[in-house]
Amino acid sequence: MFKKVLIANRGEIAVRIAGTLREMGVRAVGVYSEPDRGAVHVGACDEAYPLEGATSAETYLRGERIIEIAKAHGADAIHPGYGFLSENAEFAGRCAAAGLTFIGPTPDVIRAMGDKIVAKKTLADAGVPVVPGWSGKTNAGAAEFRKRAGEIGYPVLIKAAAGGGGKGMRVVRAETELDAALEAAQREAGAAFGDARVFLEKYISRPRHVEVQIFGDAHGNVVHLFERECSIQRRHQKIIEESPCWGMTPALREQICDAAVTAAKAIGYQNAGTVEFLLDESGAFYFLEVNTRLQVEHPVTELVTRLDLVRAQVLVASGEPLPFAQVDIRQHGCAIECRIYAEDPSRGFLPSTGRILRYVAPAGPNIRVDSGVAEGSEVSVHYDPMLAKLIVWGARREEAIRRAVCALRRYVILGVTTNVEFLRSVLEHPEFAAGRTHTHFLDEHRVAATDAAPVPDDAWIAAAIAAQQSTRPSPGAIGAGQPTHDPWQTAGAWRAG
Ligand code: ADP
Repeated sequence: MFKKVLIANRGEIAVRIAGTLREMGVRAVGVYSEPDRGAVHVGACDEAYPLEGATSAETYLRGERIIEIAKAHGADAIHPGYGFLSENAEFAGRCAAAGLTFIGPTPDVIRAMGDKIVAKKTLADAGVPVVPGWSGKTNAGAAEFRKRAGEIGYPVLIKAAAGGGGKGMRVVRAETELDAALEAAQREAGAAFGDARVFLEKYISRPRHVEVQIFGDAHGNVVHLFERECSIQRRHQKIIEESPCWGMTPALREQICDAAVTAAKAIGYQNAGTVEFLLDESGAFYFLEVNTRLQVEHPVTELVTRLDLVRAQVLVASGEPLPFAQVDIRQHGCAIECRIYAEDPSRGFLPSTGRILRYVAPAGPNIRVDSGVAEGSEVSVHYDPMLAKLIVWGARREEAIRRAVCALRRYVILGVTTNVEFLRSVLEHPEFAAGRTHTHFLDEHRVAATDAAPVPDDAWIAAAIAAQQSTRPSPGAIGAGQPTHDPWQTAGAWRAG
């Protein structure tokens, strides 16, 4: 077993990985950028070292510097988390060359699955259903794309081969729109990934996004840990995920999980991975892509299967066989995750930055908060604005929804604007409760950015007096040091909101 593992990440996922490492008796080594000097993940590790600079490119994306730190401080392995270097085949290869274990699949698998065209072809050859489409010659011109799109039938989707995060993706509803969309997608893909190759797919209307957690080891074992449904998306980005997929028949579940295992076996998959599918209204499902890393939404699977995926990742990476067999893996109840972002839903979800002045995360039975921030944390412009994840479990879906709604109501984050109210209005939507989710849910139902009624003045006054009475006067205030809670004895200052 490893003695020390370096976590090449920040925020909630670095904190979460450090927790499991320490439970396993493995020392957790952190890295941090200049703005992250006092970040929560630094304190969550046993030791942590600085990365010079502030931007992602200068810090968490600098593979060579991270390997240097790992070597200098005696780490045996690197856990990349998600994002940053997690799906960088070159980095995984460099780790191996430096004598460090990369906790994830092999570089060849990461590379092959990172190319959506290669991934689709490989899995189609293995018998996994894929979305009908065309990925022909890379130098094909607009005329060829027009012809192929006509054959597939509109609407079609142009996607980037190197795609991720919804970049380089364009829906085309009619032939007249194709040329402009093609050019825009190629330009965006070239700028984002340094690879302008795009391909065509049939655009599935109102699909559900269903993905299967898979796990493989170096001994040829492959299992699945059932499905997650991640249809609540904003601009192709998931914000609420749940497991199991509501309304899925046991027969369909078996088919889709089997397809994921077939896919994993076909590519010799090792460690944790996710096979993503789209499920259409008729119940047909199509392979979308393989994510060769731990997913943001892995906790819903952990709550439902009662397994620790990071622990399994570390064991498998150290050469041990999978700690669970397929027959031991069961789905218990229902789990829902909400991604808490520092962003302003009423201003087009503009990221919100600043210092977190007050932070009280909800707690209670079957409530888990994976957080990368605390009171006093700085939320900077440099990184992803996701602050934390709220994950709840319930014996039934309605119970989980109610628990999540109540937990969101109690979640206090002041200093930056968050999407907490927005998440709550999604969970409280009758169509969500009915399980009628699909990837256009938020657009179609025009879920209000906030449904909060204005707070009446007397409520503000009562709150201010209560706050004044419950806190000791600040050191500089009149009355400081006196054992009094009389508001008239203290001359502090407060600001509504
Ligand atoms: P990325 O890697 O950029 O996240 P994905 O291929 O995983 O791209 O797709 C992201 C999301 O885009 C899906 O969850 C779905 O909402 C939508 N999408 C992708 N392909 C299709 C398709 N063929 N038809 C309809 N929606 C799609």
